[in-house]
Amino acid sequence: MNEYDSNRIYDSVKEIDYEKTDNLFEANCYVLNTCHIREKATEKVYHDIGRVKKIFRNKIKPIVLVAGCVAQAEGDILLKREKYIDAVIGPQSYHHFKKTILKLEDNAKKINFTDFDVNKKFDNLNMTRNTNSNVSSFLTIQEGCDKFCKFCVVPYTRGAEHSRSIKELINETKELVDNGVREITLLGQNVNAYNFQKSKLSNLIYEISKIKNLKRIRYTTSHPIDFSEDLIEAHKISQKLMPLIHLPVQSGSSKILKKMNRKHSIKDYLDLINNLKKANSKIKFSSDFIIGYPGETNEDFNQTLKLLRNVEFINSYSFAFSPRPGTPAARMEKVNDNIVKERLVTFQNEADRIKMKYRKGLFNNFSWVMFENEMRIKGKFFGRDEFSNSVIANSNLDLKGKILKVKIIEGNKNTLFGELEGERNKVFAA
Ligand code: SF4
Repeated sequence: MNEYDSNRIYDSVKEIDYEKTDNLFEANCYVLNTCHIREKATEKVYHDIGRVKKIFRNKIKPIVLVAGCVAQAEGDILLKREKYIDAVIGPQSYHHFKKTILKLEDNAKKINFTDFDVNKKFDNLNMTRNTNSNVSSFLTIQEGCDKFCKFCVVPYTRGAEHSRSIKELINETKELVDNGVREITLLGQNVNAYNFQKSKLSNLIYEISKIKNLKRIRYTTSHPIDFSEDLIEAHKISQKLMPLIHLPVQSGSSKILKKMNRKHSIKDYLDLINNLKKANSKIKFSSDFIIGYPGETNEDFNQTLKLLRNVEFINSYSFAFSPRPGTPAARMEKVNDNIVKERLVTFQNEADRIKMKYRKGLFNNFSWVMFENEMRIKGKFFGRDEFSNSVIANSNLDLKGKILKVKIIEGNKNTLFGELEGERNKVFAA
């Protein structure tokens, strides 16, 4: 979501003649778009600002803005503690970027935009043409969360659930496709809670499926309790909806799920997985796990391992529990650090074993790969298969934007390497 927001911020400041640069030494304006989910997010902001300060020690100070969830959560504290920061702009206030920069160019002092008016954000950003012209693009359809899991800051930093107008989203998708986009990933903190005047995520999927040159649709991140029948049905019907579902579970123990306020049990989760597989047998799953949540016993942890083996997630993102200031879980008694570290290693080894077993099963078989770009080494192309696995293949032709049949030869945890199926590759040119 931050990547999507960063692109929209860039689209908006282009209108006041700012250009992106990779060269920190020449920037007139420095924007740090932050994520509060990450551990020690606030410290990282001060650290990064320290780097900018060092670079510009003997030069004219650039305008420095901190955006995103850390800006939302810390606001005035950031401005007071680090004088080098000129403005903080929360995630729902990105439409204020241009005027903030213009005011700062005019020597305004310390600006704080951290209100929660999501409607205004999207109304104003929609006036800006979305120029993200990659083959694969994100599209934010929903923001915020009403679930209040006890470990999470999102409801406090992104506000309540808000869904964007379906008409706007269809138009924005058409615009992206006209700019060369062939794959859309619909984004939301609770993407399957999308609900705009009774239009649900499945309705949006059916609508954008009608756009001829849009070839693939994905969505993330789903909450198990928002997985409605119609969305399950969409996985049966829509040919463009990709068969990988990211479905965070956090723990394999129903007792811990209750303590987290996740609002579902492991039985509910497994029933959902079965229903999705019944709708489309190709579907595979990835998930997020918190290891060592307060109150997690060895037995709870073993249940998490059992779930991992049972579902055979093809990607498992696991983190040791770390308290986020202001959340209820931050006040709970922590599990001993060494025990948590040990469990995390055990979990990650098992998750890697399952992942590699799945990947080895792909070797010498064919996958449909959508190629996104040519890599730095000429003739090497990067793409993704239907399950979002990264695939690299060689070709003298320009593969960007094409969906081609690739024989997977080998691979590791991160990347698969494949060979195009000779000349026959013309079959599915997008
Ligand atoms: S559902 Fe997701 S975003 Fe919402 S509180 Fe829980 S973890 Fe955070």
